[in-house]
Amino acid sequence: MAAASSILPPLGGTIAPGGSLADFIWFRTGGPAEWLVRPKDVEDLSRFLAALDASLPVLPVGVGSNLIVRDGGVPGVVVRLPKSFAKVTIEPGNRVRAGGAAMGITVASGARDAGIAGLEFLRGIPGTVGGAVRMNAGAYGREASDILVETTLVLRDGTVEVRPLEALGYTYRHSELPEGAIVVEALFEGVPGDPSEIGVEMDRIAAEREASQPLRSRTGGSTFKNPPGDKAWRLVDEAGCRGLQIGDAQVSEKHCNFLLNLGSASSAEIEELGEEVRRRVKAKSGITLEWEIQRIGVKA
Ligand SMILES: Cc1cc2nc3c(=O)[nH]c(=O)nc-3n(C[C@H](O)[C@H](O)[C@H](O)COP(=O)(O)OP(=O)(O)OC[C@H]3O[C@@H](n4cnc5c(N)ncnc54)[C@H](O)[C@@H]3O)c2cc1C
Repeated sequence: MAAASSILPPLGGTIAPGGSLADFIWFRTGGPAEWLVRPKDVEDLSRFLAALDASLPVLPVGVGSNLIVRDGGVPGVVVRLPKSFAKVTIEPGNRVRAGGAAMGITVASGARDAGIAGLEFLRGIPGTVGGAVRMNAGAYGREASDILVETTLVLRDGTVEVRPLEALGYTYRHSELPEGAIVVEALFEGVPGDPSEIGVEMDRIAAEREASQPLRSRTGGSTFKNPPGDKAWRLVDEAGCRGLQIGDAQVSEKHCNFLLNLGSASSAEIEELGEEVRRRVKAKSGITLEWEIQRIGVKA
């Protein structure tokens, strides 16, 4: 691996060559980033990307609550936005402006305190605004595209651009953000609501999650997208995969669309388990499950 200073342009923030991703992503598995980059602010990120060799890949990550990082690590630049990108402010018209690194719960809480309803579902999604905008994250019949007005992106060439909802190509758990584009901010809009009623709904969501999902485990959230008219967990269960194990990777007993790292699983074992589930579901029901978890990096 070459020294960062000889290849990468200067940055006001930090550059960690071989920076660990397993330290913070939810599964706690996988190899390092070739360079883990944490910009100071939008201008810093924009200048860095504009000067970065165009042949180097750039991949943004949030908190890795929907990621399998392969064991060989991630070539190129991985961008993780620091706390300075996590501000949440309220604007007129029941709007909430949030930085790309703000957590869903922080956005939902800010909206509640300002009497803005409709963002409660973000309480249950343990990821960042950047991840939610990219993944069109959703729960309880709502998704990011239902509340998004516009998002500010830093494109791969360093250009800063505000894109309205209509330009983001949203479908179920999918957006058409340009390759390498980094969500640095999002503007959401809700409707007027009573803070105590919003709080009750958020508490209900939290309790329901606690009862139905392995929240305290090393996991990656929903593994497969729900196929049209069905639920991925039901198909996984029907195919007899609840509790299925490869090494220390296991299909959760509590919610069988979640995979778990029981302790010392490798990313290869987790991914292989997912593929085995897909094979068994296909054999049982004829349905090909599509991965929802993003798999990044190279195999060891
Ligand atoms: C216990 C649990 C429960 C979950 N429940 C739900 C649920 O109900 N509904 C749901 O939709 N998801 C759910 N998830 C999955 C996950 O929380 C969401 O997909 C979330 O939006 C991912 O956010 P993140 O910041 O962790 O993104 P990461 O997992 O780090 O990344 C996911 C994708 O987003 C991209 N990305 C991340 N940050 C940025 C950025 N700033 N700019 C551009 N792209 C970016 C990454 O490149 C990657 O492609 C759950 C996960 C867990 C662990």
